[in-house]
Amino acid sequence: MEIRNIAIIAHVDHGKTTLVDELLKQSGSFHEHQQVSERAMDSNDLEKERGITILAKCTSVVWKDTRINIIDTPGHADFGGEVERILSMVDGAIVLVDAAEGALPQTKFVVGKALARGLKPIVVVNKVDRGDARPDEVHTEIFDLFASLGANDEQLDFPMLFASGRQGWADTELDGPRKDLAPMFDLILRHVPPPALDKDKPFAMVATILEYDNFLGRVLTGRVEQGRAKINMPVRAIRQDGTIVESGRLTKLLSFRGLERVPVDEVEAGDIVAVAGLSDTTIPDTIASPEVAGPLPAIPVDPPTLSMT
Ligand code: GDP
Repeated sequence: MEIRNIAIIAHVDHGKTTLVDELLKQSGSFHEHQQVSERAMDSNDLEKERGITILAKCTSVVWKDTRINIIDTPGHADFGGEVERILSMVDGAIVLVDAAEGALPQTKFVVGKALARGLKPIVVVNKVDRGDARPDEVHTEIFDLFASLGANDEQLDFPMLFASGRQGWADTELDGPRKDLAPMFDLILRHVPPPALDKDKPFAMVATILEYDNFLGRVLTGRVEQGRAKINMPVRAIRQDGTIVESGRLTKLLSFRGLERVPVDEVEAGDIVAVAGLSDTTIPDTIASPEVAGPLPAIPVDPPTLSMT
């Protein structure tokens, strides 16, 4: 199956969760509607409690035989290079902006990093159904923001969609048919290049996200950089300095489907995978088949910065 990996960059409350849920529903790759509504409820409760919403780290939707992995980026401060590591897994980005609020300073950091990596973002001006929406002004603001962050001509020529995640549509024209999210799916497939990685080399991935799951324990997520991950294959974890951290087998291999991680037998270069069962491996270690001698290049983990805003 063809793959696209994209990051989603949005200020808290600009409608990321609502839009991703709607992409899930409309992609037809997701039949357990119940879970989407449950999450919507969860995030509303959390919203009330803490004023924030939470998106799964990676959500996967299928459109026209292509798997689109959508990876969330942290809302603001950089947690020890996490933003850059996440951006290193993707070939495109969606910058989602509320049509009334406009581009807010906290998204600048992540947008700047995405532009510096050479990504060509798709801009989505969301919530245009709001009575106080000012989509054309917001378009100009985003252009100015990109320019101030050193965007090149290609990046400044960004494709743009007007959208209402709540109403479930996106369109290149403000007075378009406002029917569904098909224009958004199609734009992602057209604008974002597929990962260009070698499937015939020995397997290697970089552990990019570390999480703890109630059932699985330590879960390491990353993009397969080369070759194929196969269930039960022998692997080694290699630290950036070349130390072998541990040797074992890929006993738990998971791929993303909708909001869930599901067990799979094999994953090819370019896809994003979650691995459990390794006890000492951390980020940004390389997990690879034994014939891979050294670590893949990775963005180091810096001590946390204190500049949280
Ligand atoms: P997130 O924090 O970016 O994930 O944002 P949410 O998806 O949780 O949405 C934040 C708030 O904006 C919620 O109250 C949503 O109901 C509302 N919202 C989301 N999408 C839209 C939209 O397209 N139009 C309008 N008017 N409100 C929206």
